[in-house]
Amino acid sequence: MNLQNIEVSTLPGVGPKRLQAIESLGIKSIYDLLFYFPFRYEDMEVKSLDEAVDQEKILLKGVVASDPVVAHFGYRKNRLNVRILVENESIMITFFNQPWLKDKFETGNEVAVYGKWNETRRALTGIKVIGDSHSEGSIDSVYSVNKNIHQKTLVNLIKQAFDKYQGDIQTVIPSEIREKYELLDDQKIVKGMHFPDSESESETARRSAKFREFFLFECGIQSIKARDRQDGDGIEEKYDQSFVDQFLSTLPFKLTDSQSKVVDEILADMKSSHHMNRLLQGDVGSGKTVVAVIAMLASVTAGYQAAIMAPTEILAQQHFDKISKLLTPLKLKVGILTGSQTKKEHDTIAGNIANGQINVIVGTHALIQDSVSFKNLGFIVIDEQHRFGVNQRKALREKGNNPDVLAMTATPIPRTLAITTYGDMDVSRIDELPAGRKAIETYWIRSQKIEQMYKFVQKQLQDDAQVYVVTPLISESEKIDLKNAELIFDKFNELYAPKYHIGLLHGQMPNDEKESVMDEFSSHKIDVLVSTTVIEVGVDVPNATVMVIYDANRFGLSQLHQLRGRVGRGDKQSYCILIADPKNDIALERMKILTSTTDGFVLAEEDLKMRGSGDLLGNKQSGLPDFKVGNPITDINILETAQIEAEQIFKDSNQLEKPENKVLKSFLSAEFEQINNFD
Ligand code: ADP
Ligand code: MG
Repeated sequence: MNLQNIEVSTLPGVGPKRLQAIESLGIKSIYDLLFYFPFRYEDMEVKSLDEAVDQEKILLKGVVASDPVVAHFGYRKNRLNVRILVENESIMITFFNQPWLKDKFETGNEVAVYGKWNETRRALTGIKVIGDSHSEGSIDSVYSVNKNIHQKTLVNLIKQAFDKYQGDIQTVIPSEIREKYELLDDQKIVKGMHFPDSESESETARRSAKFREFFLFECGIQSIKARDRQDGDGIEEKYDQSFVDQFLSTLPFKLTDSQSKVVDEILADMKSSHHMNRLLQGDVGSGKTVVAVIAMLASVTAGYQAAIMAPTEILAQQHFDKISKLLTPLKLKVGILTGSQTKKEHDTIAGNIANGQINVIVGTHALIQDSVSFKNLGFIVIDEQHRFGVNQRKALREKGNNPDVLAMTATPIPRTLAITTYGDMDVSRIDELPAGRKAIETYWIRSQKIEQMYKFVQKQLQDDAQVYVVTPLISESEKIDLKNAELIFDKFNELYAPKYHIGLLHGQMPNDEKESVMDEFSSHKIDVLVSTTVIEVGVDVPNATVMVIYDANRFGLSQLHQLRGRVGRGDKQSYCILIADPKNDIALERMKILTSTTDGFVLAEEDLKMRGSGDLLGNKQSGLPDFKVGNPITDINILETAQIEAEQIFKDSNQLEKPENKVLKSFLSAEFEQINNFD
């Protein structure tokens, strides 16, 4: 019996309403229900305020600073308010309709509260008060539920399902592997995760569940890889080498050795008949764009269309300008498609993509709309690939007949990511910057010393430099952010106009205005560009040599590295000035790391460590997949073992056919039906 195919409605007492509630948790089958595991608070780390992200769930620890007050409103509704002191900031905590929690807050006592953070109000909507119950040895399991269903109801259902179906739980991990690592079978895992009788039972179950989760994930990756490796599955692009060489000779610079090496790797993939799925990693400023252009050109000479998708309109426009300049003289037709074009523009371009007149198409997400179809798409570039979701990348891929894919990123790939998020890809690296680049000098000042920055900028302007000034997204509200940028814009005008020209750039501007501001900055009609983070990725104005970042403590390390990477793109000395008043050790540490290194790899590892560890609840930012039990960072050892074992299984295709792997095979084919055909 396959529990993945048995509906939850087979349990007594589950009517349409309850079914809907359960489905809202993503539970569809009895299998899903049994494997809907609790998380434990011990696994969560207390967050510092500085790391709190608006609307995300966090655990805050502080000292109760006021007596809790319960206010009643409406019909049987009430609200409990209490202030706690966290890192010297008084934070308001609100619980709705749980007045009894009042007893948990005694002024002067330390408490930890789990809840949803509101950045604008600097307040927390409480979900649960974490006592010190686990220090007493109890196992504090909590299921993630929503407003449609209670913890208790869920646990009852799981209990029912377990009683009825436990005999039908089949173990997916082959016994040889389980014995090797002393892992429980699936029935024992389910029992131990939900209803442990002892701490040690719970621990063994959890360790086994982690391995199981990682192993199945890695099997999914291996199966994709196996499919890509099949000959004849991709396109054999017979490109014209002499045309490519001719193009190289027209470039204003010589490729670095690293660039040449990755170009060779990419071209070799293109020529072969298997499907290319390659990640190009190179630090900001290492020159990824030109590599992409060479590959796209090659694809066109082989008779295909090539597309490059960028995450912002500004970046798409910049790519379009550059790529047109490079490829139009070679009689290639380059087009651009973005969301802000008029219907008429859109239709014309879409028409020319469909009839094959356009050879190379640059665009934003607009490329994956239904209204866009290609005549013969053979090669795809995804720039700043971490800014796109899996589905968006897939949607573009589906516009062609299994086209070759080149994804580009500036973010170095630590081991954890290499075997999870990017496990199915081959990786090429550009590991040097073009010759003549000088390391960017980075300084950090506190806001009270801001005059120093004004003076420095003044001096740089006198030396003909161009300056970026970036302000962060402080709130969800674009309006407030804009106001912040406008204030700074006014200040810079007051200081430097009319001698120097100050420009303003933000996300809410109409596209043509954005474009013209960027053009004026590129052509040095604007000296200082005050901007929100819309310039974060990709923007390339080599003459700009100063980057000033306000409220730098509000950005993550990789984002700061990306921003800083907007300068240092020519042979002139560049500078980055961080204005920040870090409120805790982590934020302080970040400033120190930034001022001490420009090595993207070091920064990425630190970044992952700082934000990833213990953060089971939201790894969105780090690009890691959402695991339910395992934490790919803190459980890296289990993850690596699981990866190795999964790789073994897929090494030769007969392995999966062996009787001892029968359950695994049928499980995988049910689970990954959409991505692979196991039979
Ligand atoms: P990134 O890898 O961050 O996307 P870009 O592709 O935007 O970097 O390149 C950064 C800058 O370096 C651009 O102005 C580009 O023209 C220039 N560039 C690229 N390759 C070389 C090279 N081999 N020698 C000199 N300059 C180069
Ligand atoms: Mg780039």
